[in-house]
Amino acid sequence: MDEYSENGFDDFRRAMVEHQIVARGISDNRVIDAMLDIPRHRFVPAELIDSAYDDTPLPIGNEQTISQPYIVAFMTELLELHPNYTVLEIGTGSGYQSAVLSKIVKKVYSVERISVLAEKAQKIHRELGYNNIEILVRDGWIGLEEFAPYDGIIVTAAASNVPHDLIKQLNAGAHLVIPIGEIYQRLWRYTITDNGYIKEPSIGVRFVPLLTGID
Ligand code: SAH
Repeated sequence: MDEYSENGFDDFRRAMVEHQIVARGISDNRVIDAMLDIPRHRFVPAELIDSAYDDTPLPIGNEQTISQPYIVAFMTELLELHPNYTVLEIGTGSGYQSAVLSKIVKKVYSVERISVLAEKAQKIHRELGYNNIEILVRDGWIGLEEFAPYDGIIVTAAASNVPHDLIKQLNAGAHLVIPIGEIYQRLWRYTITDNGYIKEPSIGVRFVPLLTGID
């Protein structure tokens, strides 16, 4: 960490937001401010710290990845978040996406099936003082019934089809943002209506698979 002052990271972070996020059309100031604020370098393995603000996903161990910054921004913007919201993330991974959400909304629940990743993420959140995030080791296919309903759900692993329990755990008007497909996926946004849901296709993406069961 000696090579870089925290100011050095601030410069990388500002450049990331300017070139990868704003220049590509993300305009929700809540998303932009959150990503300017959060030290992404704390969420990547020490040996990859030089790449923390690069325009790419990175490995975080256990065959999992932290998503590309633009994809985090894009999916967060699709959720149309408000400060009083409670949201659920499926797939905590590094804990970066949940940190971004935590800056925007009142409460974040995040479920992860690999307990070592959940523990690492929780430790970083505690160190950074992000106290409105609760991480649970669960199988996200069934959502998180005990704290439902949510004002938004984001799935950060690729599902073969939409998990219907997630639809049931959302308030009317709320969005579910989820990659669906096999090796290459499409991002979909489901919006809950009074008598069901509507779904809209979005961009092509590549995520690790949403697996079944706890590791
Ligand atoms: N949002 C993360 C990136 C997620 S990578 C970040 O910001 O870093 C996808 C994560 O989903 C992995 O950590 C993987 O273990 C987890 N995952 C896969 N299937 C799951 C399931 N059924 N329930 C909960 N987590 C799951």
